[in-house]
Amino acid sequence: NKQIVLSNYVKGSVRESDMSLKESTISSEIPNGAVLVKNLYLSCDPYLIGRMKNIEGYIAEPFKLGYPISGYGVSKVLNSSHTDYKKGDLIWGFTGWEEYTLIKDLTGVFKINETDVPLSYYTGLLGMAGTTAYVGFFELCSPKKGETVFISAAAGAVGQLVGQFAKLTGCYVVGSAGSKEKVDLLKNKFGFDEAFNYKDEQDYNAALKRYFPDGIDIYFENVGGKLLEAVLNNMRLHGRIAVCGMISQYELEQPEGVHNLFNLISKRVRMEGFLVFDYYHLYPKFLEMVLPLIKEDKITYVEDVAEGLESAPSALVGLFSGRNVGKQVVVVARE
Ligand code: NDP
Repeated sequence: NKQIVLSNYVKGSVRESDMSLKESTISSEIPNGAVLVKNLYLSCDPYLIGRMKNIEGYIAEPFKLGYPISGYGVSKVLNSSHTDYKKGDLIWGFTGWEEYTLIKDLTGVFKINETDVPLSYYTGLLGMAGTTAYVGFFELCSPKKGETVFISAAAGAVGQLVGQFAKLTGCYVVGSAGSKEKVDLLKNKFGFDEAFNYKDEQDYNAALKRYFPDGIDIYFENVGGKLLEAVLNNMRLHGRIAVCGMISQYELEQPEGVHNLFNLISKRVRMEGFLVFDYYHLYPKFLEMVLPLIKEDKITYVEDVAEGLESAPSALVGLFSGRNVGKQVVVVARE
């Protein structure tokens, strides 16, 4: 059983050498209530860096050194001693960065019933990222037709969907991303009204003024730092900010301060952080909405697919330099 294990705790930036490939054996004994799965697709997610540091995290305790990274994935049940699961079932949820995993705790695991879509979508569009986009945009931002929406890290797993949801709602939508290729994708594939490369902008305030002369009603926050400060200056009265992530801060030893929070008061802005884990009761409602949209080609999804378990460390590291174009998936096996 090939595994990707954490070899040392991350300090500052995550590096490929923080992880290593290990061979292990897996027991054929399956304790009561557990399932043995073959992992097919793994999801690279920015939050994983938090569990790779030896500090108390906001999601769960740090990974143990020498043990496989665990995260979201799509897996096939090979053997089961759980009454709800049988051999051949497809599931998504927490699994190990390895070929085979014995899953003892099936809370937070979802059975895949709809297989008429690419299975890898359950690492992104139809999994955690999709639910995050849905919850953050619809539940937290209460969007209305005609409102103006700004999304950072807009070409990523979550951002590309928020933008499409906002367009379907009838909003004016602008995204920022870190390359020309991503900006083109936002405008030409995901239907954003405008997009800009934040790396080309000297002054984020000026950039936002250019695209939002009358201000921003909704900001879907993925990045944090200086971009958030510029957004706060450009929010409209009674605007909403869904604080989903702050990836610009994850590799800093000391997070940056935000100095203009007074805008929240003067503009009566509601800014709310959320974790998708608290909202999985809405997953069936989300699926009911999104599956028809996929089938009618009203939602599209771009994935960046890395081949082979061995490619997982480099794929994860790539998230923090923006190397991924779309949802970063790792293929362990296709069936
Ligand atoms: P993405 O697919 O968007 O990948 C991360 C992207 O972030 C990169 O491609 C890069 O794009 C951008 N990025 C990296 N470093 C920086 C930086 N210093 N400044 C600006 N942009 C940067 O990831 P996800 O869609 O999976 O996640 C997006 C955000 O949502 C993250 O902050 C994540 O932590 C958060 N999240 C929160 C959840 C919750 O429950 N609250 C659940 C899931 C995700 P670019 O080329 O544009 O720079």
